[in-house]
Amino acid sequence: MPDHDALIIGAGFAGLYQLHLLRGRGFDAHVVEAGADVGGTWYWNRYPGARCDIESVEYSYSFDPDLEQEWEWSERYAAQPELHAYARHVADRFDLRKDITFGVRITALDWSEDRREWTVTGDDGSVRTARHVIAATGCLSMPSRPDFPGLAEFAGELHRTSNWPSEDVDLTGKRVAVIGTGSSGLQTITAIAPVVGELTVFQRTPCFAVPAHNGPAQPRLAEARGRYREIRKANRLSPDGFQCHNGQIPLLDTDPAAVHAEFDRRWETGGLCFDRSFPDILTDLTANETAAEYVRSRIRAKVRDPELAEKLSPRTYPIASKRMCVDTGYYEVFNRPNVSLVDLTEQPIRWFTRRGIVAGDTEHDLDVVILATGFDAMTGALDAIDIRSGGRTLREKWARGPRTYLGLMSAGFPNLFLVCGPQSPSVLSNMLTSIEQHVEWIGTALAYLKDHDRTRMEALPENEDNWVTTTNDLANLTLMPRAASWYLGANIPGKERVFMPFVGGVGLYKQVSEGVAAARYHGFDLS
Ligand code: NAP
Repeated sequence: MPDHDALIIGAGFAGLYQLHLLRGRGFDAHVVEAGADVGGTWYWNRYPGARCDIESVEYSYSFDPDLEQEWEWSERYAAQPELHAYARHVADRFDLRKDITFGVRITALDWSEDRREWTVTGDDGSVRTARHVIAATGCLSMPSRPDFPGLAEFAGELHRTSNWPSEDVDLTGKRVAVIGTGSSGLQTITAIAPVVGELTVFQRTPCFAVPAHNGPAQPRLAEARGRYREIRKANRLSPDGFQCHNGQIPLLDTDPAAVHAEFDRRWETGGLCFDRSFPDILTDLTANETAAEYVRSRIRAKVRDPELAEKLSPRTYPIASKRMCVDTGYYEVFNRPNVSLVDLTEQPIRWFTRRGIVAGDTEHDLDVVILATGFDAMTGALDAIDIRSGGRTLREKWARGPRTYLGLMSAGFPNLFLVCGPQSPSVLSNMLTSIEQHVEWIGTALAYLKDHDRTRMEALPENEDNWVTTTNDLANLTLMPRAASWYLGANIPGKERVFMPFVGGVGLYKQVSEGVAAARYHGFDLS
């Protein structure tokens, strides 16, 4: 018999719930985690200003009503220390740590068809066997590593937002550069600008950011506690996995004054629902440009120098085709005398020196460089593991883009489940909603196998092909593939450009995946 019924890779929000759920159903499950503690994303991304972009009352577990009632969120959008404390609390509350091995990174998975088990190897040389492996490895957990010439020569401090030191980093009065203006860069820039001596922001592509209007979690928390079951149910059936009013009337059929009023209203509310004002924002370029221009007008209103405002205004991709950012005073930072912007489209980074960065013809002298350059999204964490089955690796199979059935399994790799894998809604949704739905789907599938004396489950190639085609076709109905985004793998040199998430929404996905389960796992081979 294998060592475990299920081995779970990763002790982030997905791995913790998967362990709790499987244990509760009588499985012997064990988690292996590379970090020294639980929390996943919220363990590694400890950079200044890190916080969630979905309101905490919804970016939280729904599986335990007592937990919902007892955990006190302090802010509307919780910051990293509070999110990490929440993960630690959950691990302790449900006594999860006794089944977690910390500080071991899984390097290889090898499937034995004879024994119907995976052999799981860690970077400490440990070997475990498990009937099933569940990759709760995160969609944004493998940092990208841009190859800047001379980076190793730089004599100052170098930090990455994706693996920020756990000890204090004192930036007071220093000359600091941030490379990257996605969500991580934005949050870092906003948090450190008042502290550092000089801040130089190296921007390759500007982002669209809507205000968070962060503040105390109350009274929203009390209101949510009164009707949590209703909210969670609605979230599972919604497009995005969180409370958002999705406008039904196309922008192009709406009076311009009413369009403006609706944008104003959403801007004042704050958060990611801005792009849900009208259904054609993500399907029609004219509607999209109207929304984009509204945000640019807001940028112009916030940034005093018109030339700088223009540089900060995105013009090269449709709004919301890259993940929008949720900010707390980002644009205003550029009115500070100690903050400057280097537009890399005009002055590309040429190389690093001992003293700093040469961009265009200018050498920038720096004490600290912070890389906020993103992730090898959705496939990076799995590609980093040597996953072998039937003489083939998953890496080879996915070389032309990931292929899954429902984002849950990949044909040819039996008994390997993915939590929020490619071709599932995952990163386009509230991750907590999608994580819980996947964890529960996987738990139910394992229970079904056990109850029916089956030891092997595999996605069938033809169903996988259909699902991949469906997800690609759906994405192509939208403007989303038009941006060179990490959704497409466009941020990683040499990565095949394939739109990876399922754009059909959380509710539709739930209906399909649960319909498949109800039809005795249609499209999967169970033996
Ligand atoms: P990101 O969105 O991919 O941003 C990376 C930034 O680095 C981009 O501005 C990118 O420019 C730039 N960049 C990458 N390589 C570069 C190079 N070689 N030279 C110069 N610039 C380079 O990554 P992220 O900010 O870590 O965010 C990733 C995702 O994580 C987000 O979209 C979001 O889903 C999630 N996240 C969420 C939060 C939150 O608020 N809860 C916070 C952080 C992250 P290009 O755009 O030109 O590629």
